[in-house]
Amino acid sequence: MRIDVVTIFPDYLAPLELSLIGKAREQGLLDVRVHDLREHAHDRHRTVDDSPYGGGAGMVMRPEPWGEALDALVASAPDAAPPRLLVPTPSGMPFTQAMARDLAAEPWLAFACGRYEGIDERVMGYAAQRMPVTLVSLRDYVLNGGEVAVLAIVEAVARLLPGVIGNAESLVEESHEDGLLEYPVYTKPASWRGLDVPDVLLSGHHGAIAAWRQAQRVERTATRRPDLLPPD
Ligand code: SAM
Repeated sequence: MRIDVVTIFPDYLAPLELSLIGKAREQGLLDVRVHDLREHAHDRHRTVDDSPYGGGAGMVMRPEPWGEALDALVASAPDAAPPRLLVPTPSGMPFTQAMARDLAAEPWLAFACGRYEGIDERVMGYAAQRMPVTLVSLRDYVLNGGEVAVLAIVEAVARLLPGVIGNAESLVEESHEDGLLEYPVYTKPASWRGLDVPDVLLSGHHGAIAAWRQAQRVERTATRRPDLLPPD
């Protein structure tokens, strides 16, 4: 999978060189390219923002650098279908595990990282004429920029790609894969500071362990995220 990220803070994406994502890049499973939006700003100060029409607080990202940056992305692979563009914004569709699975099936994703009060709305309209565009929210709070959202989304998507996680089975039994949260997990020692691992996990009885885990998943979901359970 190819992933392009356009941002005014390329260094913010440095964590994508680490850990499993970094390894996936080394192995050629993932081709991540980070671009500085300011390369497409041509005045002396490489300005990418201006005051909002209609007044109000803050600045808005100007459309011209974004138009050039998106054109450059498409031109970089003239024989390929254009990328699916993801625009992080608190007013987008909530990012979920289901969306991560959907995105993991795409050959090419591009991300447009907003800053300030966001990107001039015409950019999304222009992009939509050339490529599929999804506005995506990391949920109901406001960040300073789209970069943190990109880090989260890329990590959630990349770990679903074949070969990125060593043990593919560990992807199956996870929170949000089938609507329930995961069961509690324990490791050695069996007793630690007076706190013991539940007996059933030491029993070696696979059926009993599976039943206990399923009961824990339901109880945990009901307590922490009742909104995930189907209505009675
Ligand atoms: N004025 C915008 C609004 O109220 O919807 C918020 C702008 S925010 C300060 C700047 C940038 O941070 C946004 O353009 C977006 O890229 C990113 N951002 C902030 N919160 C986000 C969230 N919950 N999910 C995804 N991206 C977010």
